[in-house]
Amino acid sequence: MTIEMDKDITNAEWEVMRVVWAQTEVPSQVIIDVLMDKRGWKEPTIKTLIGRLVKKGALKTRKEGRKFLYSTDIKEDALVNETLDHFFHNICSKDIGKTIGVLIDEAILSHEDVALLKEKLIQKEQVAYDTVPCNCVKGQCQCQCQRHG
Ligand SMILES: [Zn+2]
Repeated sequence: MTIEMDKDITNAEWEVMRVVWAQTEVPSQVIIDVLMDKRGWKEPTIKTLIGRLVKKGALKTRKEGRKFLYSTDIKEDALVNETLDHFFHNICSKDIGKTIGVLIDEAILSHEDVALLKEKLIQKEQVAYDTVPCNCVKGQCQCQCQRHG
């Protein structure tokens, strides 16, 4: 699933999105309170972030009396998946396994999570390659330089 948005969202903007995801519709004051408290950001900074997200099409606004209410059509898991896709697209396919290993090392997991990962690995074993081919553009990856040079 691709998200209809003009640009990727930054880490700071992600903080705003989390507040909106936590409720269905939220006045700017709530976003400001949460992020002043969590990140120590100033009100104008937070308002700028909200404004950028509206411009990018990530947040919708509705006026109710004198205040603006913010909501989003973007699902949190969809944005997480898309961000991961972009991230993995930026590394050599040969390094993806190692990178997932690092993620597992650093993750705090429940027994249920571990069981899920085990199951996924058993399935992957059926379709695993002997060696993963490099998918990089020549000049962006060491393994291709070695192969061709
Ligand atoms: Zn490569």
